[in-house]
Amino acid sequence: MSVPLSDVAYQQCISPDCGEQYGVADVRINCGQCGGLLDVRYDWGRARPPEKLGDFQKLWSERHEPARFSGVWRFHDLLPFAPLEQVVTVGEGQTILQQADAVASYVGVRSGGLFLQYEGMNPSGSFKDNGMTAAFTHARMIGAKRAACASTGNTSASLAMYCAVTRHMKAVIFIGSGKISYGKLSQALDYGALTVQIAGDFDDAMVRVREVARDLGIYLVNSVNPFRLEGQKTIMLRVLEALRWEVPDWIVVPGGNLGNSSAFGKAFAELLELGLIDRAPRLAVINATGANTLYELYENRSLRWNGGRIDQQVSDAYLAELDAAQRKASTLASAIEINRPVNLTKCLRALDTCDGVVREVTDQEIIDAKAQVGAGGIGCEPASGASVAGARKLVQEGVIDPDARVVCILTGHQLKDPDATVAYHTTDQDRFDRVLGTRGVKRASFANRAVAVPNDLPEIIKAIQLYS
Ligand SMILES: *Cc1c(COP(=O)(O)O)cnc(C)c1O
Ligand SMILES: [Zn+2]
Repeated sequence: MSVPLSDVAYQQCISPDCGEQYGVADVRINCGQCGGLLDVRYDWGRARPPEKLGDFQKLWSERHEPARFSGVWRFHDLLPFAPLEQVVTVGEGQTILQQADAVASYVGVRSGGLFLQYEGMNPSGSFKDNGMTAAFTHARMIGAKRAACASTGNTSASLAMYCAVTRHMKAVIFIGSGKISYGKLSQALDYGALTVQIAGDFDDAMVRVREVARDLGIYLVNSVNPFRLEGQKTIMLRVLEALRWEVPDWIVVPGGNLGNSSAFGKAFAELLELGLIDRAPRLAVINATGANTLYELYENRSLRWNGGRIDQQVSDAYLAELDAAQRKASTLASAIEINRPVNLTKCLRALDTCDGVVREVTDQEIIDAKAQVGAGGIGCEPASGASVAGARKLVQEGVIDPDARVVCILTGHQLKDPDATVAYHTTDQDRFDRVLGTRGVKRASFANRAVAVPNDLPEIIKAIQLYS
């Protein structure tokens, strides 16, 4: 199928020393000149973005149109790489920014100052749908028949869903063996994706899927794909929209492959460039201690964007150390169990744009923070708990002011990983040890334990009166 491509968009290498440009129909995941990552860029003079962010509100009256209903594509003017009539949407991005006062008190900011951006409400249950709708739209524009990804679970669930709903492509997914939660695996299987379970972890699967995509000409939808990140920019646009277009003080997000943090930085850089905001929020990217490459490089080895002249030796040396020590990523927060983040350089740029910081949090801190979120009624998966745990740490350190307005991104739905939640609340010590103890989690600080009673009415009534 041949469709008109946007004539205002192009791709460009992010390295300012290279800056090589490619057409929007060029399918590539890095620069042919220097191997760097690519951005989707726009000729804003011809793209005609809105004059003020509030103009987007008028589009609500057109929400009978699927592309306007979508929480991604109603911001099409800020990601116009495909004509609006060509976008593929399944209703992604209908998510909310929830003021969470109980979580605020846990984090240590004033009541009314903490917000949770709940991306678990997406059709496949994670923020990945924001990016997949954009990558999928591009794949369809260029006539791809098959799409592939390596995944810790949510990317594959999202890809499988788009393929199944639209019937435009076949999904081929690569997962590390034993590294995926059942909630996520069940989606890929149910939606009919070809699921390739390789003996290895996510980092291994990522290497293989790149090779397979290259050799078989399959369209790759991991976050190295610059079109995916265009869709993920809209998470920030929805945050701004919910705050009546006021910029919050902090955005706190878990860091895995660093696609989200990179996309957020790009969103704010563009909004600044277009004069649609007058300052960027600060960005905090939170690693798990068992998968802390960004933390190590940024906070301990002072690796910086440095105007695009990143000291490659620093990151190469660190990754070589990991290999020499045979250290594999290990955290209960499987969605961020990644040691070789593919978007590292873009994330450094985002940290530069947003005066960012990076922190690491333990699995104990992650699972306790997750329980606090759950107690507020909008549950999340473990990786998302990292943002709340990280915000708490930054308040304790005095980096985040208790009077600040803080937005934590809840990246995935609670039901994605019920094993971790049940193990946390269980009275069964074996289960706790198996699922959490092996990760160094020692206690369930906020456990809500089930009460065991005999099948006997007076006993049941006694138990209810005792505990309620
Ligand atoms: C993918 C994912 C992450 C990590 O996001 P990156 O963009 O890879 O840093 C975090 N949480 C959840 C639930 C995810 O699915
Ligand atoms: Zn280049």
